[in-house]
Amino acid sequence: MRWDHLADDDTTPARGTANPALFGTDVVTTRTFDTPEFRGITFHEVRARSIVNRVPGASRMPFEWTVNPYRGCTHACVYCFARKTHSYLDLDTGLGFDSQIVVKVNAPELLRGQLGSRQWHGAHIAMGTNVDCYQRAEGRYRLMPGIIAALRDHANPFSILTKGTLILRDLELLRQAAEVTEVGISVSVGFLDDELWRTVEPGTPSPERRLDVVRVLGDHGIGCGVLMAPVIPFIGDRPEQLRATVRAIAAAGATSVTPLVLHLRPGAREWFMGWLAEHHPRLVPRYERMYAAGAYAPTWYQRRITRQVHELAAEFGIGPADRGAPRRISLPDDTATAAAVAGPTQLTLL
Ligand code: SF4
Repeated sequence: MRWDHLADDDTTPARGTANPALFGTDVVTTRTFDTPEFRGITFHEVRARSIVNRVPGASRMPFEWTVNPYRGCTHACVYCFARKTHSYLDLDTGLGFDSQIVVKVNAPELLRGQLGSRQWHGAHIAMGTNVDCYQRAEGRYRLMPGIIAALRDHANPFSILTKGTLILRDLELLRQAAEVTEVGISVSVGFLDDELWRTVEPGTPSPERRLDVVRVLGDHGIGCGVLMAPVIPFIGDRPEQLRATVRAIAAAGATSVTPLVLHLRPGAREWFMGWLAEHHPRLVPRYERMYAAGAYAPTWYQRRITRQVHELAAEFGIGPADRGAPRRISLPDDTATAAAVAGPTQLTLL
């Protein structure tokens, strides 16, 4: 076991307390950057031992393999389902999840090696299923170009779900990959409301900027779906809000829209309820009733939202994700989630 604390011109070594064994590696370099973009954020750079994860309970998933170059996410969505996974690293699931970011710096070379191995048979790889691979850290670490290039060179099908506009940096690589294999891109936009965005997704690009991503990808021949998630009960679910959101998604040229109601698993639930008590205290009892039975809103409510969004999608000329086609992005059911929570890979909502 060895600790490195490296520094370059604009970095300073941080007082690291992380346990390398918990990160699945022998070495952790803990680093901070003295730039406004990364102020208050600590990066734990690791050389991972593996990068392609098998999804627990994959038989119930639309994909079996994932690649996650980061853990933790500076997009800091209050409802983020991946919060719980930070506890496996002995890191805090609240602010710690937003500001203690694990970076698998060798992800591209590991992936290239895996794709070239005889055991690998070219299965679809999903990215952005745990935390956002185009979060702000990616601007600094630039892992995704190497990852996409490896997938392109092996003509390996893949998908990306993101809230990050940084994906446009890699447009040319994505276009090249799409020429040789199946590439699915989805952007997550649950609502347009500006104030809601600033408080509940404080580290993300605005919904409008995310829809610009959909537009630009489409302009370059890369179809992009929208995961309309989360629809937040009593705050982001008024008919006029749903209507405005679906209309904007359609105007951006999305190939599909898939609604998903907020769900609150352990880790996310506590953090979200704290936010709710601060910003919408009168809604706390309603939420306690709505999520009394578990992580999911009642089925009748989920069906109502799905129906409303599908009707709006039809009105504005976009269809819901085709249930007959292989869906690139989805969320686990309870059984799969339980399995996922127990392991290193957990699906989340971007
Ligand atoms: S929901 Fe997605 S974008 Fe938001 S913090 Fe979690 S991983 Fe990041």
